[in-house]
Amino acid sequence: MYFLSDLERKFLIHKLLPVAREVGVSPELRGWNWHTAPLKPFYEDVKLPMYAVCSKFCPTGRDVYLSFVEDLQGTVNFRVALGKVLHGVVSDCLQAFIQRKDLNFDSWCKKIRWSEIPAKPEDVFPPAKKVWDYLVKICEARYADVEARQPYASEYDLMASAVPFLIEHKISGELLGLSGLLSLDCYDYLHSIMFDLKVGSEPEDWHRLAPVGYALVFESVHEVPVDVCCVVYLNITKNRIVAMKDLFFANDELRSWWIEERDRKMEIVAERRDPGKPPGSKCPGDCMYYHICSG
Ligand code: SF4
Repeated sequence: MYFLSDLERKFLIHKLLPVAREVGVSPELRGWNWHTAPLKPFYEDVKLPMYAVCSKFCPTGRDVYLSFVEDLQGTVNFRVALGKVLHGVVSDCLQAFIQRKDLNFDSWCKKIRWSEIPAKPEDVFPPAKKVWDYLVKICEARYADVEARQPYASEYDLMASAVPFLIEHKISGELLGLSGLLSLDCYDYLHSIMFDLKVGSEPEDWHRLAPVGYALVFESVHEVPVDVCCVVYLNITKNRIVAMKDLFFANDELRSWWIEERDRKMEIVAERRDPGKPPGSKCPGDCMYYHICSG
């Protein structure tokens, strides 16, 4: 899922990295400058999760108001449920492989609390199994490839080279006004790429905000630059896995856009200001809060 293809590697090496080195990032937009404007959060008492800052699913941000001011819960629909399950498959399978845990798909399924998921297991199992098997195959191939080229490397070192990912790495976003309990989908520590996984979604410009936000958080905590981000789109189409990547330079424009969104959402919560519904009928029909806003 997070492995780059040959073409993506060429794009990274010959296009993105040279641009990132030549253009650079303005010092005030590096996460480690969280204590000065514009990164310094204006409202110190508000801490938001990353999804609340980055989602533009609701055009006005009313979902943030309903959730964090009115404390209302959205209704989880099948699309969201499937997304959560497949997201879990990717992270649990990769973590199990990296940590050499004795976990297979059947034992993983037994851990799922199906009563909390509004989907029938028989609708979710086949795509989940497909994703699990795909990941195991690709990880084993990577590992075998590195093993054959490095006969003196330890198992730990082989794994670090073959699958160089921090999966669901826990990190605090508090310096930037976010929750202290964030989890990164994936950070490739050999190539310094911040990934974000989207399941069952068509690409949107604003999907770039989440990995950029995590890059800023990573910079704020670890003080290392993260210049390249990637959104991975995972879909099951005609019974086949389709994984597409949007690999990009986390430039000043995207960083400024993230700060703008963070400040707007924080203001909604701090000032308890209902931004209202979008004009016309711009609400997506499968919005989790549709039953509240249309009532
Ligand atoms: S129903 Fe519309 S206004 Fe309400 S949260 Fe969803 S998108 Fe926003």
